[in-house]
Amino acid sequence: MKKNKTAGNSKKKTNKKPKVAYFCMEYGLDTSLRTYAGGLGILAGDYLKGAKDHKYPIVGIGIKWKQGYTDQLIDKKGQPYDSYHNYNYDCFEETGVKVSVDIRNIKVVCKVWKVTKFGNAPIYMLDTDIPENSDNWITGQLYGWFGEERIAQEMVLGIGGVRALRKLGIKPEVYHFNEGHALFAGFELIREKMEKGLSLKEAKEATKKQVVFTTHTPVVQGNESHPIDKLMYMGANLNFTAKQLEKLGGSPFNMTVGALRLSKKSNAVAGLHNKTANKMWKDVKNRSEIVGITNCIHLPTWVDPEMIESVENSEKLWNNHQKNKKNLIAFVKERTGITLKEDVLLIGFSRRAVPYKRSNLIFTNKEIIEPLLKENKLQLIFSGKAHPLDDTGKAIVANLVEMSEKYKGAVIFLENYDMTIGAHLTRGSDVWLNNPRRPLEASGTSGMKAAMNGVLNFSILDGWWPEACEHGKNGWQFGDGFEGKSEKKQDKHDLDALYKTLLDEVIPTYYDNRKKWVKMMKRSIISTKDEFAVNRMLKDYYKKLYLA
Ligand SMILES: *Cc1c(COP(=O)(O)O)cnc(C)c1O
Repeated sequence: MKKNKTAGNSKKKTNKKPKVAYFCMEYGLDTSLRTYAGGLGILAGDYLKGAKDHKYPIVGIGIKWKQGYTDQLIDKKGQPYDSYHNYNYDCFEETGVKVSVDIRNIKVVCKVWKVTKFGNAPIYMLDTDIPENSDNWITGQLYGWFGEERIAQEMVLGIGGVRALRKLGIKPEVYHFNEGHALFAGFELIREKMEKGLSLKEAKEATKKQVVFTTHTPVVQGNESHPIDKLMYMGANLNFTAKQLEKLGGSPFNMTVGALRLSKKSNAVAGLHNKTANKMWKDVKNRSEIVGITNCIHLPTWVDPEMIESVENSEKLWNNHQKNKKNLIAFVKERTGITLKEDVLLIGFSRRAVPYKRSNLIFTNKEIIEPLLKENKLQLIFSGKAHPLDDTGKAIVANLVEMSEKYKGAVIFLENYDMTIGAHLTRGSDVWLNNPRRPLEASGTSGMKAAMNGVLNFSILDGWWPEACEHGKNGWQFGDGFEGKSEKKQDKHDLDALYKTLLDEVIPTYYDNRKKWVKMMKRSIISTKDEFAVNRMLKDYYKKLYLA
């Protein structure tokens, strides 16, 4: 008896790292592997690479998407169109494991593949594209198609994912749901316990102790929900009755609400986002506590090591930056035929095309922006996709393309935003612009990539930036954190602030005070390279979520 007690104590004291299974719909590991759409996937990929570098016992669970996310190209009239391709990869390793999930009462077999090739901790990806299935397209398109398909995909990820872990012999102590997509994994954990004789209530309580949840989107509509009868029809409910489902996630059933209630602890992805998330979900009773853990990036993937190495040497630092800018200019030439100028200020911007990110904001006042572009004071480079079903987003893209035609040579739009474009832009721009309608940008990791490459952030105080910004020292803020009563008021306020800071501070510093500029680059790198490097995030997740 005494011996047991000591053993128990010493176990606690050694601070052993619990084994974690990390569930995510998408992983951005490499441009060649089209299993990601945007920020969520890039973050997941960076996290699993960090886990490998820093030896954390984490495995990923995901989906092997046959077509992945859209290739979004621009037609001759300047309109975006979507194009999907079947990919055949050679980076997937066999595991010999197959699991099955009943979807619409039909047995769907999922083949489990393993990916380790990109310097990442193992990620197990499930695939329904095998001859056993009559419907082998469930894992076809990431965020494609309609509600039923999304539920089917999430059943593969969650229910299939837990079953895969069992068959692989991996015994996680913590199940981390990155976004609500993975919630059905919790249903499977409950089902397993009920099979062993626990009541639903007991199984739910026991499962809660194993689950942590990360919420990402501060836009209410972005938090996925499904009609309860559809979940029942699909068979996603497992042991839940319709009534019990409603109790967990409301009606329609909200995946975020369900995950908040089925976890021991949750987190938002930056300090400000934490406040927003707590406000957003304050009326959800019996939910887990939400804490803030700011996202980070994987430096070897995104940051030019020469920038970090030359940080103390102003001349070298500037030369290395100019080398990166030249690389970007060559890349743009190759893609568009247009040659940008090395000695003209270059502002980069790449974001998903959605209204709150206000990609076109800088073009609002023609009298201010046009002379800057025409008189070689400023160059702008944009990239970003709209969701294939989002016509408003597509109109934003079309407008950016129109601007690139109107100001040919000074404004660039790069079609089909991906990791290659992202890396070029966040290394080779001089300034990184970010102007979301606060507080709707959860984190914004592209700004971290820029900052560590000595590309100065010029941003609204949203997402991660309030935590890092030293105005006039490592970048600039504009808007002072203002949140207007109406979108119109906020847009006007932010636009005025954008132009003022651009004209009074950014442009003069670039052309008239190179010394200060380089000092700011240096400060940008030094003030972010540890605080926003993935090792910090891993430590925080262990401390504040997994071990909490
Ligand atoms: C870094 C990155 C993102 C995420 O950046 P945000 O700042 O959140 O927009 C999205 N897509 C790609 C291709 C990236 O490289």
